[in-house]
Amino acid sequence: MSFTDAEVERYARHLVLREIGGPGQQALKGASLAIVGAGGLGAPAALYLAAAGVGRIRLIDPDVVALSNLQRQILYATNDVGRVKVEAAAERLAGLNPEVAFETRDAHLDPGNAEELLRGVDLVLDGTDDFATRFAVSDAAVRLDIPLVSGAIGRWTGQIGVFKGRPCYRCFVPELPPDAETCSVVGVIGALAGVIGAMMAVEAVKLIAQAGEPLAGRLLIYDALSGESRTVRIAPDPGCPACGEGSPA
Ligand SMILES: [Zn+2]
Repeated sequence: MSFTDAEVERYARHLVLREIGGPGQQALKGASLAIVGAGGLGAPAALYLAAAGVGRIRLIDPDVVALSNLQRQILYATNDVGRVKVEAAAERLAGLNPEVAFETRDAHLDPGNAEELLRGVDLVLDGTDDFATRFAVSDAAVRLDIPLVSGAIGRWTGQIGVFKGRPCYRCFVPELPPDAETCSVVGVIGALAGVIGAMMAVEAVKLIAQAGEPLAGRLLIYDALSGESRTVRIAPDPGCPACGEGSPA
């Protein structure tokens, strides 16, 4: 795989980075990933990953653009309100980088279709905001042996982790939390979606280009109100229903 003059110019700031360079940029061009949820987290992640020259990006989201999305979902413009999200997103992203192939899935991912929706990609990013979908994404990623970059935000706090094999997301969140909150109820500071979504894109680029240390087995928590972040370790759970001993995976 070689680069055209236009690609060399487009990716110049990557090509001079020692940890990416020509081989890393080739890896990005040859990579495919899925982004589940084209919302607050998926929007900035998709913008940066399209800009970065990932070869194929699959967008999975069942929603249409709502006016209340625009406070943080920076993929969309006011005149996109009412449009199918993945279609509006693909159009915007193709304008940013026509070198990228986009696939759209106007679908709600659930345990019944997760494997079919994620099959064939090298990496999956999950920016959805409900635990049932997160579990379905994680379980399918474990079964298909696809690394997962998972982000979450609410109010003023965000978190991000990378799950490659063990520990998986379910080792971290074994069951549906009874106090699960969604942003539509508790609110979220818009720019926090940009912080965590961009971090998800950074982790995806690192995984694909094999640069640095992925956040695997760790969770980074950012508290925007205090302006502080910390990283905690996540241990594999031997009794994990998805990746533990005796599990179907
Ligand atoms: Zn697990």
